[in-house]
Amino acid sequence: MQIEDGKNIVVGVLAFQGSFAEHRKMIEGLGYKTLEVRTTTDLEKVNALIIPGGESTTMKHHLALSNLRGNLMEKIGKGFPVYGTCAGAILLAKNVDAKPNSDGIPVMDIEISRNAYGSQLDSFEEILSVKINGRSKEIPALYIRAPKINSVSDEVKILIRNNKKEIVMAKQGNILVTTFHPELTDDKTVHQYFIEEIIRTP
Ligand code: GLN
Repeated sequence: MQIEDGKNIVVGVLAFQGSFAEHRKMIEGLGYKTLEVRTTTDLEKVNALIIPGGESTTMKHHLALSNLRGNLMEKIGKGFPVYGTCAGAILLAKNVDAKPNSDGIPVMDIEISRNAYGSQLDSFEEILSVKINGRSKEIPALYIRAPKINSVSDEVKILIRNNKKEIVMAKQGNILVTTFHPELTDDKTVHQYFIEEIIRTP
C-alpha cells in the first residue's frame, strides 16, 4: 500500500493472542487507524504490523496455520515495517535460546533468551531514561516474563539500554523490537517512534 497522507496509515496488530487490544488503543490514541490481522487478506490491508506480547509458542502455532509466517518473512524482507513487543521480539529474532528460530519469523540479527528474568522477577517495572531524536525523557517500562537480548549484529541499532545496561529496545532497518510492554502503560513514546521513524521515514 502506498503511504500518501500520514493519517491514512493503517497499522495492523497481529490479533491471535496477547495484548493486541492495548496496542490498538495506543495507535488510535495517536490518531492513526488500526486493523486486527489474522489472515493473509488482512495483512494486505495494512501499512505496518505490530506483533504484541503474549506467548510466542502459541503465536507461532497460529502463524503457521494461517500462512502468515511465510508472507511476513517475504514482506519484511522487502521493507514492510514491523514492531515486536516481548513475545513479538522473540518471534522476530534470528536466534532464540541459542538455537535458530526456524519456526518463528527470523528476520532480525539478534540472539534472545526467553523468560530470562526467572520466577522472582516474573513481572516488574522500571523507569527508563531515554534519548529519542535528541530529546531526553523518562518512560515507564513494564516487563512480564520478559526475554533478554544477549547479542546483536552490527546491522542492529541499539536504541535503549536499561539501568542494568541490558538492551531493551533496538531496530534493524524496518524492524523494531522492545523487550518491555509500552502498550500496558500510558506512555505512547515508543508507538510514536514506530510511526514517525520506522513507518513514515523508511
Ligand atoms: N514469556 C513469553 C514468551 O516466551 C513472553 C512474555 C510476554 O510477551 N509478556 O513468549
